[in-house]
Amino acid sequence: MDLKAHIRDIADFPKPGILFRDITPLLSNPEALQYSIDYFADQVSDYQPDYIVGIESRGFMFGMPLAYKMGIGFAPVRKPGKLPAAVHAASYDLEYGSDTLELHQDAFPQGSRVLVIDDLIATGGTAAATYDLVEKTGSTVVGFGFVIELLALEGRRKLPDVPITALMQY
Ligand code: AMP
Repeated sequence: MDLKAHIRDIADFPKPGILFRDITPLLSNPEALQYSIDYFADQVSDYQPDYIVGIESRGFMFGMPLAYKMGIGFAPVRKPGKLPAAVHAASYDLEYGSDTLELHQDAFPQGSRVLVIDDLIATGGTAAATYDLVEKTGSTVVGFGFVIELLALEGRRKLPDVPITALMQY
């Protein structure tokens, strides 16, 4: 299936100069949605994860159905102040300033094999911070999965030497 046919490009969102890759047409098309989760599961099954971590918020939209499909657990990585129990925090640099993400300290048992899922990798800062969070819990990131990879931004170079799957590349 041509998944790119279900991605909508929006120029200058959320700010001038950004070409936003909108996944909502893919989510709203039943065949494309089902295919993307089935294909994702196929691509990452070799990593043999025990848990999926989804990054707020579009990472939830793919990480959760993928965890259900693979018969494994799910944990959310969230913006600061959203998770109720004790958390680990990791900060990363943005173009201007920085941002922080949090993960429950007891999200999974120590030594778990964790697959990190997000909708898109751009500069890689979000995914790299999530890697640090998982390692802080005493577990291991065995792979990253993205629906979309923006190749020009070379986000992979920010990530450690762990397998990476992207369903689409631009
Ligand atoms: P980065 O940390 O630079 O890899 O940015 C990745 C995060 O920002 C992901 O959670 C994406 O949802 C979002 N993002 C960055 N650039 C875009 C884009 N061009 N279109 C859609 N989402 C984007």
